[in-house]
Amino acid sequence: MIHYTCDRCKRQINTDSQTRFIVQIDIQTAASEVEPEFEDDVDHLNELHQILEGMHEPVIATDEEAETSHHGRYDLCPECHRQFLKNPLGRDAVLALGFSNN
Ligand SMILES: [Zn+2]
Repeated sequence: MIHYTCDRCKRQINTDSQTRFIVQIDIQTAASEVEPEFEDDVDHLNELHQILEGMHEPVIATDEEAETSHHGRYDLCPECHRQFLKNPLGRDAVLALGFSNN
């Protein structure tokens, strides 16, 4: 039996009685949408090549890429899924209250 852990609250998700929600985050700069597809393929090959070359070498080029793109896949328990839907961008609840007071 595979055990899943919620990436938000770190609690174990019992898939027998709970639904496991998967959040996939894919952040790109708007400019990347107009890139030809073959360039995307080259990027993936480069990434694979970097992985194959060995993890011991720090890949400096990815620092810049990390600022403009992000790919993430997260497991959420039902409770965190609810919380995530309420506030998917992690906006500060205190700031939101400040807005309503004005
Ligand atoms: Zn959770």
